[in-house]
Amino acid sequence: MKTIIVWFRNDLRIHDHPPLAKAIKNGDKVIPLFLWSRTNLYGPRASSNRNRYLLEAVKNLRENLQKIGGDLVVRDDEGDAAATLVRLAKEFKADTLYYMADYSPRSLSVDTKVCHALRNEDIEAQNLPGKLIVHSQSRIQTKTGSTYRVFTPYFHAWQTIRRRDIASTPNSLSLPSNIIPGELPSLESLVVTDSPLSKNVPRGGETAARERLNYFLDGPIDDYAKCHNDLAADATSRLSPDIHFGCVSVREIETMLGDSTGARAWHRQLAWREFYYYILFHHPRNMTEEFLEKYRQLDWSDDESHLQTWKDGQTGYPIVDAAMRQMLEEGWMHNRARLIVGSFLAKDLWLDWRLGEQHFMRLLLDGDDANNNGNWQWIASVGVDPAPIYRRLYNPSSQSRKFDPSGDYIRRYVPELKRVPTKFLHQPWQMSEEEQQQFGCILGKDYPLPMVDHAEARKVALERYRQSAGN
Ligand SMILES: Cc1cc2nc3c(=O)[nH]c(=O)nc-3n(C[C@H](O)[C@H](O)[C@H](O)COP(=O)(O)OP(=O)(O)OC[C@H]3O[C@@H](n4cnc5c(N)ncnc54)[C@H](O)[C@@H]3O)c2cc1C
Repeated sequence: MKTIIVWFRNDLRIHDHPPLAKAIKNGDKVIPLFLWSRTNLYGPRASSNRNRYLLEAVKNLRENLQKIGGDLVVRDDEGDAAATLVRLAKEFKADTLYYMADYSPRSLSVDTKVCHALRNEDIEAQNLPGKLIVHSQSRIQTKTGSTYRVFTPYFHAWQTIRRRDIASTPNSLSLPSNIIPGELPSLESLVVTDSPLSKNVPRGGETAARERLNYFLDGPIDDYAKCHNDLAADATSRLSPDIHFGCVSVREIETMLGDSTGARAWHRQLAWREFYYYILFHHPRNMTEEFLEKYRQLDWSDDESHLQTWKDGQTGYPIVDAAMRQMLEEGWMHNRARLIVGSFLAKDLWLDWRLGEQHFMRLLLDGDDANNNGNWQWIASVGVDPAPIYRRLYNPSSQSRKFDPSGDYIRRYVPELKRVPTKFLHQPWQMSEEEQQQFGCILGKDYPLPMVDHAEARKVALERYRQSAGN
């Protein structure tokens, strides 16, 4: 009699779930298990928004397992997943544990302890693919056998790797009758200090995620290549939280994509996600230090009042403020907007990019070590895929004109500027006093004056990078 525990983490789905499918094939009894990890729920990188999504996704997974006759067992990890899994395996008389491989330094350190603890007790522990399209982090290598540091050649190599087959979706399951499934925690117990709950968020879980996926693939994806940078059009998939929590499988999605220009452009974005997992896997120290050695000496600021002004969306640059307020309201921000506020934080305010990275982790529904870190390093010009500094040092007003030409994105999130005509919206400080009166927006009273002079900040930033690089 083989009893297998399937340990769910950020893989909260039943479709294309290799550990679940394999357990059903090999086990006489299968016990789907989710552990509430205290470190993840309440640690320094925790987020109320993500905790709420997680709660909804776990609830939905339980419902979906119940529909096929099973259930999801939930327990607290008591701060030590390895010890808890050993105890539960003994209690459930399980001889095997399957789980989906994860690749971030945080997960790898937990997984190593789990495998060690279980194997010490003669319990088999096996990780299986499912989180990424390409599972192996060592098969993608340059001709000289080193790891890629630039996205495009990585992408070419990534495309050539053979893909795994899709795992079958279970249609029946039964939980041993002596196991009590356990209660879900309340939302209140999952709210974290200094991490507000956003008002306008999508429903978490596989069922809602698959609806969003089908909607996107049925139409909007066709315009993706053309419109993905248009802030007001909001034409991206918004699937990142669903992908982060594994409520949809990126490998399954890959098989659903056609060969349109939009589908190809979108597929490339999925490869960016895998690139950052790959980079962090090979360079775990990136979590705390700059990938580029020449920029490790940069003397970043930690000015708290500047940081707070940025966080509150009160910088006086409408496009930056709209973006920061979008994140507060929705727990999500458009990619183009993330680039603009990231450049502004690091290069206009000269604030340590790690402060921006941490703030994003507190709010984003898709907040993810590999992707957040990789993208922050990219926009702060200290990471992989390097380019000359000026190329990623954005002028907020030009970005605003280019990517929100109608001003509709700004007006959506910055109501003080609603009546300001488009010609002033990107640089409201150009309004005369009479115009401010006329359009109901007095600068310094209804809406702030710019907190820094972009042209001046740009010069200073370029000089600092130049000095640090010693050229
Ligand atoms: C400073 C900064 C921080 C970021 N932090 C995160 C993060 O914590 N988690 C996260 O998932 N993404 C992060 N991104 C990447 C990107 O902004 C989001 O993935 C994207 O906005 C999600 O929206 P979407 O699902 O509509 O994306 P779509 O445009 O529909 O793209 C589809 C999917 O591709 C992946 N993807 C798209 N763009 C990127 C990218 N630049 N890097 C990596 N993957 C990408 C995501 O999984 C996304 O869901 C960050 C970007 C920046 C500039």
